[in-house]
Amino acid sequence: MRRLKATIMILIFLFSGLSFSEYAQASSIFVNPKHVYTYSKMVADIQKLKRAYPQLVNVKVIGKSEYGRNIYAVSLGKGPANIFINGSHHAREWMTTTLNMYMLDQYADAYTKNKKINGYDTKKILASTTIWFVPMVNPDGVTLQQSGLKAFPKSVHKSLLKMNNGSKNFKRWKANGKGIDLNRQYDAGWKNLKGPKKPSYTDYKGKAPATATEVKAILNFVKAIDPEVAVSYHSTGKILYWNYKQDSKRYKRDLAYAQKVRKMTGYSLIYNSKATGGGGFTDWFVSVKKRPGFTPEISKSVYENSPPLSEFPKAWKENQAVSLYLATEGSKLYNERNYNSLKTKYKNLQTQAKKLQPYYSSSIKNVDSLRMEKNFITLYNSVKNESNRLGQQTDKLYSVNRKKLEGYQKVIKLQLGYSEKYITAINAGEKLKTFQSSYIKTFEAGTLTDATDGFTTTAINHTHYCRNKNVEHSLW
Ligand SMILES: [Zn+2]
Repeated sequence: MRRLKATIMILIFLFSGLSFSEYAQASSIFVNPKHVYTYSKMVADIQKLKRAYPQLVNVKVIGKSEYGRNIYAVSLGKGPANIFINGSHHAREWMTTTLNMYMLDQYADAYTKNKKINGYDTKKILASTTIWFVPMVNPDGVTLQQSGLKAFPKSVHKSLLKMNNGSKNFKRWKANGKGIDLNRQYDAGWKNLKGPKKPSYTDYKGKAPATATEVKAILNFVKAIDPEVAVSYHSTGKILYWNYKQDSKRYKRDLAYAQKVRKMTGYSLIYNSKATGGGGFTDWFVSVKKRPGFTPEISKSVYENSPPLSEFPKAWKENQAVSLYLATEGSKLYNERNYNSLKTKYKNLQTQAKKLQPYYSSSIKNVDSLRMEKNFITLYNSVKNESNRLGQQTDKLYSVNRKKLEGYQKVIKLQLGYSEKYITAINAGEKLKTFQSSYIKTFEAGTLTDATDGFTTTAINHTHYCRNKNVEHSLW
């Protein structure tokens, strides 16, 4: 008996252990920041996240590196507004990939468990904003920095060594696989960038802006998702770049965001816009896209190497809510911008819709003017289609903004409604004409049945319309 009891106890213990580990696995954090974070680890973790959160996480390959490695974009959330976070433009700064992935992982976990991060409501934020991550912009460079020459074809070893000034130590590698510095490739002050004239482990800007495949992929991706805000993570010096040739209005706006990020991270703001040198992703995003962009440097300065793994916990603590904060601001920017552009579009559409009126009312003098003009149908269709299109965009706005557009929608709907009635009546009239003779015949023969009912309704609709419009008609 005692043995049985013990066996049962052991079984209970085992089962509880099993179910606990299953639970832990289902809700655990996948990304381990305590190890060197490689391209293949990232690919495996992306797959795990996609499997764990099929409704929340989306994965896209947005291009290939020069040596054919995939450049992944991973999204989190379901909101109409997008923001864009990226890491590892610079090879030796791959801790920023770890940060991107860890952030993704933590946010997904918080979303599912309805948890807040530093007071930020993940679930609410991800309902109005989608956060897109490209955790490793430069997979070739990262792989070369971590694994050395052996990860590359023999045929290119000689040229890679040359770019590395003959050294076999690739720990200092910053460029992509072809010796181009990806953060000196963007078309913002590119012309004036100094540095090496040929491919190098660091600082070579390339023959022209946006020639590296990795940068092309990023530019196409930005065009596709049209992000409100962007963050390009780097890892040198615990500082924050945010400022590059904004006009005074945007300078003020972006400074306010930067000050908030400074408060969260403790990083010093770089006010001198010449400090970036130009050519960087953020320089381009801020000055060409004219939207807020940030480059947080997440580690203490390390001379020509990757930051030690011990830097990560601090970097995470400082940055854990940064993307949630910027996602909140991104949603506001999205609403403001789209509300303003929709308002203009609705104003124009209202003017167009009012042009329908003469067709269905004032120009009708007698039954002969009761006809469907081609211009009327073209105008009606274009107003209706545009109204549907604007309606879909309006649905994505905050309700306070939606309400402000209701006045325009009402006028347009009214015009469309009258037009539709007119079209129905004309169609009914046409039908009536066609069936008139057979109707009379049926009537005369005294064989009016249920089958003629639809016809009768048509006649009534037509009569109603014409009576309302005081149109005389001689159809019957
Ligand atoms: Zn960097």
